[in-house]
Amino acid sequence: MTMKSFPVLNDASLEDAVEKLLHWSLVHGLVMYPTGFKSFNTNAAPVTLFPTPFPRDGLNAALNVQTLFNELYAKVATDEEWLSLIMDELIDVDKEFTGKLWQTHKRAKEIGISQPLSLSLVRSDYMLDENTGKIKQIEYNAISVSFGGLSPKVSDLHRYLNHAGAYDSRGSQKYYEDGELATTEASDKLVEGFNDAVKLYNGRADNNTTIVLVVVQENERNVFDQRHLEYALLNNHGIKSQRATLSEVSNVTRIDSESKKIYYIPTGDEISVIYYRTGYSPSDYSSEADWETRLQLETSKAIKCPTLLSQLSGAKKIQQLLTDRELVSKYISKSNIDTLFSKFVDIWPLDNSELGKKAKKLAFECPEKFVLKPQREGGGNNIYKEDIPGFLSKLPEDKWNAYILMDLISPSTHKNTVIREDKLYTEDVVSELGIFGTIIWDSGTGEIKSNKTADYLLRSKFSSSNEGGVAAGFGCVDSLYLY
Ligand code: ADP
Ligand code: MG
Ligand code: MG
Repeated sequence: MTMKSFPVLNDASLEDAVEKLLHWSLVHGLVMYPTGFKSFNTNAAPVTLFPTPFPRDGLNAALNVQTLFNELYAKVATDEEWLSLIMDELIDVDKEFTGKLWQTHKRAKEIGISQPLSLSLVRSDYMLDENTGKIKQIEYNAISVSFGGLSPKVSDLHRYLNHAGAYDSRGSQKYYEDGELATTEASDKLVEGFNDAVKLYNGRADNNTTIVLVVVQENERNVFDQRHLEYALLNNHGIKSQRATLSEVSNVTRIDSESKKIYYIPTGDEISVIYYRTGYSPSDYSSEADWETRLQLETSKAIKCPTLLSQLSGAKKIQQLLTDRELVSKYISKSNIDTLFSKFVDIWPLDNSELGKKAKKLAFECPEKFVLKPQREGGGNNIYKEDIPGFLSKLPEDKWNAYILMDLISPSTHKNTVIREDKLYTEDVVSELGIFGTIIWDSGTGEIKSNKTADYLLRSKFSSSNEGGVAAGFGCVDSLYLY
């Protein structure tokens, strides 16, 4: 298939298209609070004006491998013996966060973990490698994955602009064929994961007797993304949800000391699922009391999305270790290993192993080939290319193992126009495809109860910027023009 070139609009048409885009976004909830917001004043979420080209077989390859990744990470999260070996090393170099998560899990275990089922809503992120034309994995997110709510809105927006003639300077023609614009039903599919979990918790098909507790950050800008999921949960499945920050949780919930069932005090509803949209970054815990709350929730009967173990299984260090075939073959059948490994680039440890010694040399000899990543989530934490040697030099060598060194992927670039906080930027962008998944398993027996792919997200950023996070201010939400 040949790729259509980027639509060219004259000034008047561009102005009209942008107005159409902003109005549509506000009407349909494709919105985000602006930086430093103080009231209900909101703004259109940062988006691209046009869908960005992406090969159809790349999207399919990423969708097709998702349930395998779901399974792999669920199995890792269940293999506590192996995880504890890794964590014992990691907490030496990252006491303040990874160490705290691990310690909280161990304390929860001492108290007693009363819910064997785990729910994870995950997202596996990829870039299309310019050299091979294949998708390569950037990272695997195991907690608080975002944009499942807004992503379907962007593909709807681009479809609307196409139908409204906004991509044609005469304002009359569709520019894309309908089949060329990918559709994503990520929010409907993600909430199926909650519905499956609530039903399993209730032990019967009627699912509207218990509720989902959404644990959120204070001053969250991306709150509407979360709200779309909550609305879909209520509309599609009749399941109610309530929101609370980590610091509010202890005031609005109570745990029955016998049954360990947890209740939402204001309504008296029993909580069957606890969904974290916080807790992935040290700053999410404002005090020791927030860590205590996380501990209490972990020991409650509600199904956690995710558990502390699942969250830890998504550490960048684990992603690095999982580039070892022998290790992965412990979890995944031999016939599927090649499919998984075709998505990987090299990721290196910075320890005293042979591989680690080689990586330490490479980091100084050709830093331009690498990105250095700590055990953190949410964007803005990595060290890129030429900054790596200086960064490492300032750090005692026995702390380097808190980081992994990853081969940089060179993604294809495309010209697009980005609209963020009412400003227009026409530049080369690079895109990151995120595939959502949901999985529920029994962490005692390892039995997988449900394992699903939940469609996709495309984020784009200026090719001149290293980072990609949208809420962190580096990128925007996009959709796919398939070729
Ligand atoms: P986080 O968990 O903070 O989102 P990521 O691993 O996703 O961390 O890295 C943040 C951003 O850095 C990505 O969105 C991507 O734009 C860029 N990035 C990360 N790894 C690579 C890589 N191997 N090649 C190219 N870009 C990368
Ligand atoms: Mg991440
Ligand atoms: Mg990321």
